[in-house]
Amino acid sequence: MNTTQDTRKNAAGFSITECTRCGNTGNFGPQSIDAGRCFGCNGSGWKMTPKAAKAYKAYQAALDASTASTAAEAKVGDRVKLGGANTTYRWITIASIGANLNAGCITITDTKGNSTGLPATMKIQNFTQATDAPRIADYAV
Ligand SMILES: [Zn+2]
Repeated sequence: MNTTQDTRKNAAGFSITECTRCGNTGNFGPQSIDAGRCFGCNGSGWKMTPKAAKAYKAYQAALDASTASTAAEAKVGDRVKLGGANTTYRWITIASIGANLNAGCITITDTKGNSTGLPATMKIQNFTQATDAPRIADYAV
């Protein structure tokens, strides 16, 4: 057992530790299943410490509770949360906003080139515009 204090952090500042499932290799199980990617650490070989995982969950909850704006109020460069009914939630950065063939809708394209059509009046979480958005540095442990 590792008794030394592990002070490694992920890019967001949360404490991480070596994944014990895969022994820090990122690989677990046969190559035939998702190329042998370890599901414990998503193939990185590292996972958040229990304390950091709890703090990250609290950060996500605070993010979800922060003020929403309508899709029409969103601007290029804003970080917004999309998804819901038929897709999983994801945070995207808006690269462009354009017209949509459907009346009352706009098309938001993210920095990865994915486009989504939304009703202009739809409420979306907007990290950039929300004045009550939590700061990740206040949660990272
Ligand atoms: Zn692992």
